[in-house]
Amino acid sequence: MPDGLTLILQAMHFAADRHRDQRRKDVQASPYINHPIAVAEILCAVGQVRDVVTIAAGILHDTIEDTETTAADLMARFGAEISAVVEEVTDDKNLSRDDRKRLQIEKAHLKSAHARLVSLADKICNVRDILEHPPDGWPLGRKREYVAWARAVVQRIRGCNRPMEEYFDALCARADTAFGPDASV
Ligand code: ZN
Repeated sequence: MPDGLTLILQAMHFAADRHRDQRRKDVQASPYINHPIAVAEILCAVGQVRDVVTIAAGILHDTIEDTETTAADLMARFGAEISAVVEEVTDDKNLSRDDRKRLQIEKAHLKSAHARLVSLADKICNVRDILEHPPDGWPLGRKREYVAWARAVVQRIRGCNRPMEEYFDALCARADTAFGPDASV
């Protein structure tokens, strides 16, 4: 196995290649890879996570769900541990959007410590994007709904990383001010 830093750079290279034709939903249509990089940065800079498996899984977290990558591809390149964490944070695209969202809430607390950290960093990045670089054309209600759902997922995994949870809570407070609190949760 390569050393940690090499592995992280290999994951970055691989994810950049796999996501190369994808864009985020913001007005500027930012390159998709900005998102997994931001997830890894939050893990490291806010969460103080120094564990290579978690950081690499953060970089790779959307490759199975959103690109042609399989768990076997990740296993061959990055080993069973990283591949298993990415699988844990991958939604089953055969299910409806509502079912996928519901299952994320229901199963969040059953995930490994690595997967919880990646999920938390992912929700942080998405809520921050909704505040700062919102998806083009999303009405207020949809933004509010996303934040409420992210909160429900994070609620189930509290206790995994205090600084990231506090960062997430501060973003949600900003979202409440910007979009109004969601009365349904
Ligand atoms: Zn993501």
